[in-house]
Amino acid sequence: MGRIALLPDEVASQVAAGEVIERPASVVKELVENSVDAGAGRIEVSIARGGASVIRVVDDGIGMDRDDALLSLERHATSKIRTGQDLARIQTLGFRGEALPSIASISRFRLSTRPRDALEGTEILVNGGKIESVKASGEAPGTQIEVRSLFYNLPARRKFLRSENTEASHIQHQLSLQAIGHPNVGFVSIRDQRIVFQAPPAGTLAERIQDLRGSELFEQLLEIQPEPADGITISGFVARPGVSRSTKVEQILFVNGRAVENVTVQHGLREGYHTALMKGQYPVTFLFLEMDPEAVDVNVHPAKREVRFREPDAIRNAVAETIRRTLETDRRRWSQAFHKPASATRAPDPAQRAPLTDSAPPLIPPSEQFALRRDWAEFNSLGTRSRASDVPEQIGVPPASGVPGPFDAPLPPDFNQPGVPAEAPNFHPKSTHEFKILGVLGKLYILMENGEGLVLVDQHAAHERILFEKLRHQMESEGVPTQRLLIPLTVNVAPKDYDWITTNAPTLERMGFAMEPFGNSTLKIDGIPQFFRTEDPSVAIRQLVDELRSMTTTTSRLRMGEDVIAKTVCRHAIKANDDLRRPEVEKLLNDLMSCDLPYCCPHGRPTMIQIGYGELEKKFGRKV
Ligand code: ADP
Ligand code: MG
Repeated sequence: MGRIALLPDEVASQVAAGEVIERPASVVKELVENSVDAGAGRIEVSIARGGASVIRVVDDGIGMDRDDALLSLERHATSKIRTGQDLARIQTLGFRGEALPSIASISRFRLSTRPRDALEGTEILVNGGKIESVKASGEAPGTQIEVRSLFYNLPARRKFLRSENTEASHIQHQLSLQAIGHPNVGFVSIRDQRIVFQAPPAGTLAERIQDLRGSELFEQLLEIQPEPADGITISGFVARPGVSRSTKVEQILFVNGRAVENVTVQHGLREGYHTALMKGQYPVTFLFLEMDPEAVDVNVHPAKREVRFREPDAIRNAVAETIRRTLETDRRRWSQAFHKPASATRAPDPAQRAPLTDSAPPLIPPSEQFALRRDWAEFNSLGTRSRASDVPEQIGVPPASGVPGPFDAPLPPDFNQPGVPAEAPNFHPKSTHEFKILGVLGKLYILMENGEGLVLVDQHAAHERILFEKLRHQMESEGVPTQRLLIPLTVNVAPKDYDWITTNAPTLERMGFAMEPFGNSTLKIDGIPQFFRTEDPSVAIRQLVDELRSMTTTTSRLRMGEDVIAKTVCRHAIKANDDLRRPEVEKLLNDLMSCDLPYCCPHGRPTMIQIGYGELEKKFGRKV
C-alpha cells in the first residue's frame, strides 16, 4: 500500500492556517485588511477574553453576494488577483485567498454579508472548516465576521496562547497599525464590551497619531515634507533627535499602505539619523513609502509582514536622505530662532527693565543666575514627562540690576559659528527658561534646577557634542587643521584599503589628514588631524580605515567625516573625573546650548536629562 496520501482539505487548511494565523491578533489583521480592501468607511472590532473566545469584525464595505460568500471560504479563492502577472503588481492588502478558509478551519466561524444594493444578505456558519448552514440574513450592507473559540481544534496552538492581556495588547497594536495606516477609515475597538478607542473616519494622519498615541508623543514628531524622486514618495512623521525607544515597536512603516518591517528601511533610518540616534535604540517613525507596486514584492512572508524591494539601495538612500533633510530643516529652524551670539544670553539691559516693585532681595544671588535661551519645549520633548501646562512660562528670578552676570564677558570667537544669523528674527522671549546651577555630582553630572524640576547634564557627553560640532563646522568650512608629523610615516595597507583611501583622499584631507599614495599599497603620512591625538598614528589610521570602509559605499563625504570625528572626539572630551570650576561649567553649558543638536552626544546618548517635580513627588509618595 502506498505510504503517501493527499491530505483532506480540512487538514490542509489547518496546516495553512498554522502559518497565517499565529494568534488572535493575526485574525484581526486578516479580517481588518479584508475590510479595508472592501472599501469600508468604518470598521468595528470587538474581542472577548483576549480574542480567544470571540473576535468580531464588522464593516460597511462592498459585501458579497451568496455565491461569492461561499467561494470566499474556499482555499485560493480571491477577487484580488487573476493571473501570475498580477502577483507582480499587487495593490490590495490581500491576494492569496487563504485567510478566510484558514480562519474558518480553526474556529467556529460565522460570516454574514450583504452587498450594498442587495435586498438581503447571506449568513454562513462554519465549524472547524465544515460548512454547517447557509441562509439568507437581514443584516445591514457590509460584512460581519465572527470568530469564536479560535484554535479549539488545534490544542497545540491553543496551549501557546498567552494571557488575555497579552493577546489583547497584540490585537490593539495590530489595530492601531491599521488605523494609522488608513486614516480615512473610521475605527472602533471594543474589548470585553468596553470601547478601547474610537477613531472617526476621514481623519488625517496627524489626527490619527494624536488620537492613538497621544499629543505628548505627537509633539515630539517632525513632519516629513515629501519630495518624490525616482518613483518613490516618502511621507509621514519621524521623531526628533533624541526621541528613541529600545525596541522597534514604534518604528512604524507602511509600504503602499501595508504595515511591514524591513531591514533596508531600518538601515536607511539609521543612516539618516546618524549621530542623533544612540546605539541599540530605534527611532520612532510613522513612515509611509509609496511606489510603483511592481517595484516591491509583497509575496515573501506567510503573514505578509515583510516585503522585498527591487532596488533596495535606492530605497535606503531615499529614506536616509528624507530623514537627513527633515532633521536638517528642523535644526535650521531651531538655530534661526535660538542660536544667539553671546549678547543674547546676557541679562537684559537694566535701563530697559521694568523697575522692581518688590524691594526684597532676590532669592537667588545674581551671580548664581544662569539664563539659557532655548525653547524648553524642545528639551521637554526628550524628557520623561512634560508639565508645561502647569508651569509658568518664565522661570527664575531676573538678575538684579547693575551686577554683571557671568556672561557679560564676551565669549570665545568660535561661539559664533559661520552662517548663523546674528539676530534671530522670530525669537520669542517668553520661551526663555532659566537654569540655576546647583553643583556637580561625582565630578560628572552637573546639577541644575529649572521650573520643571531637576536637570542633570553629563559633562563628558556635553563636551563631546560641543567638540563634535566645532570640528564638523571646521570640516564644512576651511577644513580641520592638520598637525604635521616631525617624521613622515609610511604605512602599508591592504590593497583594498589602499584603493579606498586613494579614492577618498580629498575627503580625508578635509578631515586633516595629509597623506600621499606611495605606490605598492604604501601610504606616506605627513600629518594627522589636530584633534587626533594618538601614540601610534599608523595603527589609528588602519583602525579608522577599517571602520569607515565597513560603512556603506554611498555614504556622503560629510557623513564619513562626521564618523571620523564622532569616533575620535570622545577620546579628547572632558572626562568624567575632570574637576570643572564654575566658570568652566558655565562655559560648557552655554556652548552646549549653542549646539545645533544639544540634547545628545555624537553617539546619540543624551547629554542631559530632566527629573521633573512630578517624578520626585511620585518617588516621595506625595502623589500616586
Ligand atoms: P484575500 O484577501 O487574499 O483575497 P481572503 O481569504 O482574505 O483572501 O478573502 C477571500 C475573498 O473574500 C476576498 O478576495 C474578497 O473578495 C472576499 N472578502 C473577504 N472579506 C471581505 C469583506 N470584509 N468584504 C467583502 N469581501 C470580502
Ligand atoms: Mg484577505
